[in-house]
Amino acid sequence: LSKIEAGRIDLEERSFNLMEEVEKIISIYGVRANEKKVKLLKCISKNLPANLLGDPVRLRQVLVNLIGNAIKFTDKGEIRVSAERAPDDEMIIFTVADSGTGIAQDKLESIFDEFSQADSSTTRRYGGTGLGLAISRKLVKLMGGEISVKSELGKGSTFSFTVRMKADAVEAADGKKEKAVDEGRVERALNILLVDDSEDNRLLIMTFMKDSLHTLDMAENGEDAFEKFMMNKYDLVLMDMQMPVMDGYEATRIIRRWEHDKNIADTPIIAFTAHALREEVQKCLNAGCTDHLAKPVKKKELIERIRSYAIQSSV
Ligand code: ADP
Repeated sequence: LSKIEAGRIDLEERSFNLMEEVEKIISIYGVRANEKKVKLLKCISKNLPANLLGDPVRLRQVLVNLIGNAIKFTDKGEIRVSAERAPDDEMIIFTVADSGTGIAQDKLESIFDEFSQADSSTTRRYGGTGLGLAISRKLVKLMGGEISVKSELGKGSTFSFTVRMKADAVEAADGKKEKAVDEGRVERALNILLVDDSEDNRLLIMTFMKDSLHTLDMAENGEDAFEKFMMNKYDLVLMDMQMPVMDGYEATRIIRRWEHDKNIADTPIIAFTAHALREEVQKCLNAGCTDHLAKPVKKKELIERIRSYAIQSSV
């Protein structure tokens, strides 16, 4: 804090992928949220550029403080982390909304002060130092924005902050990361949604892809997938077909219906089928899938198939 006050913190300006950055934090905090049986959702508006110019480390610090607090003070319900473009094109609005304990109205201003906690029992029950929000406010200011909170005791809190960050126009035309494959062609980084009820399978695919350019987001069943699909921008969906709650056929159908209603182009969906039987494949295609891979999926096959969706001509 004193470093910031003394002006000894320099902001970096470099290109980073917003979805990747938020995903990193969510995957770390997701474990804690899971333990508390609280849902941790992210919602990155489709109108945001994929790559931004700014200081990802400072941004992460603020998000980590807010998400950490939200989990600490929430015992049931959900936490929603969202990002959208402000009407002023160069500002981005981040929101962390929880359904936790809430904060008394007369404490709302003071929680941003150093060493301030909403009530004296907080340290006893939850620990903490009362410095997180003071640091967050200063960092947000440094990034050209403001932080505010709305809250109701017993119902939850919503922290919002803005930061001034431009789209990285130097990247590929649509602002995505890419890697040259051969002359005239590039492999773009894709945001991929992996839908599979088996944790082992999700881990396996994650391991297959750990050295790739792509960002992987996960859903445990069709319902979860549809919710995530509506809130985020994905370039590709990997869909297991047999799942509890809502299977891959139904999930694909409602994704397609939703895309058509919104006039959005079909996102490629690769079905993971249990057998390579013709009828099975046809059933996936009829539901709206673009493509299929037979399980168990092999690393090379998966990587190559994904690459076929990521390769583009560089001109
Ligand atoms: P710390 O979490 O270390 O106590 P912070 O500066 O991050 O310090 O937060 C200050 C106080 O604001 C907290 O002690 C708590 O009383 C209140 N607070 C912050 N975030 C939330 C939240 N999401 N829900 C309820 N209270 C919160």
